[in-house]
Amino acid sequence: MSDSLDPEDWAQSRERARAMLDAVIDRMERYDEGAVWNAPEGVQPDLTPDKLGQGEAAADAALRGLLPYGVGNTHPRFFGWVHGAGTPSGLMADIIAAALNANCGGRNTGAIKVERAVIDWARQLFGLPDDASGLITTGTSAATIIALKVARDEALGADVRETGVRDQKSLVGYTSAGGHSCLDRAFDLLGLGKSALRKIEMDERGRLDLAALDSAIERDRADGLTPFIVCATAGTVNRGAIDNLSGCADIAAREALWFHVDAAFAAALQLSDAHRHRLSGIERASSIGFDFHKWMQVNYDAGCVLIRDEAAHRAAFSDDPDYLTGLERGLGSAKPWPVDYGPELSRGFRALKVWAQLIEHGPDRLGQIVDANIAQAAYLADRVTREPGLELLSYEELNICCFRYVGDGSADDLDGFNQELVIRLQESGIAAPSTTRIDGKLAIRVNITNHRTQLSDMDVLVEGVLEMGG
Ligand SMILES: *Cc1c(COP(=O)(O)O)cnc(C)c1O
Repeated sequence: MSDSLDPEDWAQSRERARAMLDAVIDRMERYDEGAVWNAPEGVQPDLTPDKLGQGEAAADAALRGLLPYGVGNTHPRFFGWVHGAGTPSGLMADIIAAALNANCGGRNTGAIKVERAVIDWARQLFGLPDDASGLITTGTSAATIIALKVARDEALGADVRETGVRDQKSLVGYTSAGGHSCLDRAFDLLGLGKSALRKIEMDERGRLDLAALDSAIERDRADGLTPFIVCATAGTVNRGAIDNLSGCADIAAREALWFHVDAAFAAALQLSDAHRHRLSGIERASSIGFDFHKWMQVNYDAGCVLIRDEAAHRAAFSDDPDYLTGLERGLGSAKPWPVDYGPELSRGFRALKVWAQLIEHGPDRLGQIVDANIAQAAYLADRVTREPGLELLSYEELNICCFRYVGDGSADDLDGFNQELVIRLQESGIAAPSTTRIDGKLAIRVNITNHRTQLSDMDVLVEGVLEMGG
């Protein structure tokens, strides 16, 4: 048995890492070739005893074997859900992060300074005050749980951390019927119950109806309940609708409610000179949850929560056990630490990918990707409108376009037909849209958050749909 500390072994490991890097970079150079998605038939990851400890060659082959089997979001014609495409700087940053093997829960390290710099940049991007706080998270789901925990504790008082939520029926919050399920999940996890999150109806463009919000708050107060939060959405998953953020902020201010904005992917509009105005009002948020790994193209995973009131943020998470007490100097200094702002102690160095992305490409270039994707969705919506066999179901002038194949209008099960069509598009490898329902109709949903996508990819998609449909 070899001694893993043997310098010879280390040298060999480094050579293997170099060879693997070549394989990975080759793969990145060919992202636009081949099928968007390959069913993972060739992946056999079982760890039965005969597979364990087979040595370096087996490990290298197993790792290389995974390369063709991503979800497909690195390919220019991946249009499903909302996935970012990643960049080579993400690869480099992850290599450095692994080499540092940084644990970013706290302590006086360069990694923590990088995370603070990223949060500071994000805080300025959205126009939050200098003393606002934040945390890099796995994504918007985690960011939402953190933001809503701070909001809940503010509403119930600091004691709730000791006593727990005793009267979970009293706190209620609001989002639109197009709000993301991560909000429901946060209500569940925070002991408030999903039913305490009211789903307010949407207007014809998929935005939270402000008059309906007013009435819901009034009704709940009359019923003796305690409204505590309005959760606006900037960029709904289904259609890319952006709530009237200023209108929501006004209502939240008037009613003394926490104003949270879920800007998971549309946060990237803030990088675009042409589209920034669409997020107007976000600077009034009590908290914002958003993703770097979607439209900002940072490799998975990296999201962020920003909280206007730093003291409230820290009060909701800081515990200060003896073994994490801050010191004046040395490794134990430079408090507060990320562990004071979120639920995790040990955590990886996600901030580095974001930092590297910003240094390499810069906000302007990232904003141009946003502009290009919006133009591609407009082109697609226009082409769909002009194709007699297709029907446009929703398009909110953002990066999402939903439509369906109707052919000559004679088919009776259009929902089943379009569902099958999308599966076939995915299986053929031509393109990978997803599906959703718009006004009850099953839609082919095309989301474009990909710097590799070209206008011509829209034509390939439409022709693929027409061919498979007809
Ligand atoms: C993707 C998304 C989320 C969830 O974010 P994750 O990073 O996947 O956890 C929440 N809200 C909206 C609007 C989203 O698009």
